[in-house]
Amino acid sequence: MTAPTLESNEPGSGPITAPTALDPEWVRRLCLQAVASPRAQRHLTQTPLTGNPLADIPLSTPEDVDIALSGARMAQRSWAYLPVESRAAILLRFHDLVLAHQRELLDLIQLESGKARLHAFEEVIDTCNVARHYGIRARSYLRPRRRPGAVPGLTKVVEHRRPKGIVGIVSPWNYPLSMGITDALPALVAGNAVVLRPDLQTPLTALLAAELLQRAGLPQRVLQVVLGPGSTIGAAVLAGADAICFTGSTPTGRRVGAAAGERLQSMSLELGGKNAMYVADDADLDRAVEGAVRACFSSAGQLCVAIERLILHRDIAQAFLARFIPAVQALRLGPNLTYDADLGSLVSGDQLSIVSRHVQDARARGAQVLTGGRHRPDLGPYFYEPTVLDGVTADMEVYRTETFGPVVSVYRVGGDAEAIRMANDSEYGLNASVWTADLTRGRRIAGLIQAGTVNVNEGYAAAYGSSAAPMGGYKASGVGRRHGDDGILKYTQAQTVAVQRGMGLGVPPGLPPQRYAALVSGGLKVMRAMRRG
Ligand code: NAD
Repeated sequence: MTAPTLESNEPGSGPITAPTALDPEWVRRLCLQAVASPRAQRHLTQTPLTGNPLADIPLSTPEDVDIALSGARMAQRSWAYLPVESRAAILLRFHDLVLAHQRELLDLIQLESGKARLHAFEEVIDTCNVARHYGIRARSYLRPRRRPGAVPGLTKVVEHRRPKGIVGIVSPWNYPLSMGITDALPALVAGNAVVLRPDLQTPLTALLAAELLQRAGLPQRVLQVVLGPGSTIGAAVLAGADAICFTGSTPTGRRVGAAAGERLQSMSLELGGKNAMYVADDADLDRAVEGAVRACFSSAGQLCVAIERLILHRDIAQAFLARFIPAVQALRLGPNLTYDADLGSLVSGDQLSIVSRHVQDARARGAQVLTGGRHRPDLGPYFYEPTVLDGVTADMEVYRTETFGPVVSVYRVGGDAEAIRMANDSEYGLNASVWTADLTRGRRIAGLIQAGTVNVNEGYAAAYGSSAAPMGGYKASGVGRRHGDDGILKYTQAQTVAVQRGMGLGVPPGLPPQRYAALVSGGLKVMRAMRRG
């Protein structure tokens, strides 16, 4: 594989030192991975780091989506026929290739999304975790299972897990590698083909991941990538698939879910959040501050599980803020493709205007900006300072609406019950975090918070990074789960094969029905007594 050739700005030409262009020939070859006609309309992507053009990519048409779907349909049959061990081996080889090619992947993630390199590296970790987990565990998740039969000894029952067929995936821009490919991995290893529509802002990272999967041994057409707008091409992918996996905002998720419901498709929807972190009065404040900085500002807050509400026990609020605010102010913003910036850019002008609007609205209604609150065009077109708000009230937009940016609001409470009430006062329920020295207290609070993942003494990475355990949303944060058994079994359909031996299940010839009913009633009582479930 040829590494992307990056042109760096001349040293000394200003504070922006990010590379600004990719080798067009490399981009052209990468785009051959996508299903798009040679005469396709073109789309020019830009890098949020500088606002400069990045890549000229082809746009798939609805006819291209049909070609992708029918190609996937044909390829799926022989793919599903392979032993699960052979499919799993491809995931493990992909894991190794991701690590081997991480420099190219990190460059692309940063160029397409604008995030800092360390945050891009989190995507490499996540992708490897998921590939390793399903590469090693798929066989056990998918193995046929004996189940107790209707008549003990005579009905032999086996539950099989069959692939759904084609899984349609629409992924957003915020985690171009992780969201772009990790939901496809369990679908593939379960014997499905996948048609993937990555976000138009970040297509190259997904295409590079698709190329690495091919290099790992994935047969042609088992994973098809199409490029285009969500409302047309994304919608067409979902319409033609047997099962869908959508990641994005709750309003779009509702529309996608309604259409999938109409088609009776199985769906998983990974949607928005307004995630809360509670710091109790006995928490280790140094650790809590470090965890809060990471959880609020990773990927400049454009992370579905990022913390946007910081709920502090009144007794430690002042001490916490005295450490938290300087730690936030010490974060270094920058566009470099190196590890020397702590925070990157927002992804686009749209994201910048949402973030600016939330902060302006809060300010205008009386909130105080403890730090940040400024657009930083001197660093790049969409950079925004990490921002901490105090005095936020329910009439402010930032109180309930997901910002999806580097903005956190501080609230103070008198105890655990009030903290739990406040954490649950949201239509969302994606992620939450609790900090306390008393782990029993932490687990008790976690059990009362309405969120799909709750981290004790960590902001988000403990739960998200545990690929063996499900993650997803309560309430308006989604339907279904990724990771763990849910994350693979959702791409399968159960088929129960029951073999009846010996006597049949009807009334035996010559036996009066009344006698039959009495015999079966006796049998039911025996099974109940033997606790046979
Ligand atoms: P969005 O809903 O505007 O778009 C998400 C994706 O859906 C985009 O790629 C878009 O092109 C596509 N799309 C739009 N209309 C569509 C349609 N009718 N059919 C199919 N696809 C369509 O969201 P966004 O602002 O781009 O992404 C950020 C949101 O994603 C945030 O709310 C964030 O919390 C959420 N998110 C959730 C998770 C999770 O795991 N729960 C992970 C990442 C992001």
